[in-house]
Amino acid sequence: MSAQPRHHLDPATLISYASGALSPELSAIAATHLDGCAHCRRELARAERIGGTLMEQQQPAHANGERQQHLRSAMLDLLDAPIPDLPDAPAPLPPDPDRLPAPLHPYFGSSLRALKWRWMGPGMRYIRVAGPTGGTLLMLKIGPGRRMPVHSHQGSELTQILHGAYDDALGHFAVGDVADLDAQVEHQPTTAAGVPCICVAALDAPLRFQSWLARKLQPVFGI
Ligand SMILES: [Zn+2]
Repeated sequence: MSAQPRHHLDPATLISYASGALSPELSAIAATHLDGCAHCRRELARAERIGGTLMEQQQPAHANGERQQHLRSAMLDLLDAPIPDLPDAPAPLPPDPDRLPAPLHPYFGSSLRALKWRWMGPGMRYIRVAGPTGGTLLMLKIGPGRRMPVHSHQGSELTQILHGAYDDALGHFAVGDVADLDAQVEHQPTTAAGVPCICVAALDAPLRFQSWLARKLQPVFGI
């Protein structure tokens, strides 16, 4: 994967992933993105530290106001702290175009060529897999230059681009990018010319951190 991804995981998604609150289905997509994205791996390291503070905050059922205040300021201190330097990832092996990312293997196997596509419409193929906790994983293969129907999302959806590209109102999504969408988003992707677009999505119930915390984290993570 040559170019760095330009569309990343939402801070609320990273915190849910770090704290184990993300469903296995959404986690598989988040892990697929993290594999190829140094930016999100750095943000995850920060989210893991915040996750530790969150755990602490959940302990006292009847914490007094002073303790709440202390926990909140401790968390905000963590958010202000510099991002730790991470060791560089080992040099990747030459990419095998047939090999699917490892986090997808439990659901789709390891080989792109071996996938058993099902017909969805002209130029559109899909594979749907039920996840272990009732969510759905969906692999889509859309022919070049095709316009998808306008749709919005129930609950949360994570989509990772594996091959090709598409454009919608949110921008241009290419290999390695992730679309981290919530139920408010309504969009109509159009696939790029030349090559089919293959993407993998997880659909799930709403995330747990749609709260003051997620709003606070938004500017901190600069996304
Ligand atoms: Zn990223």
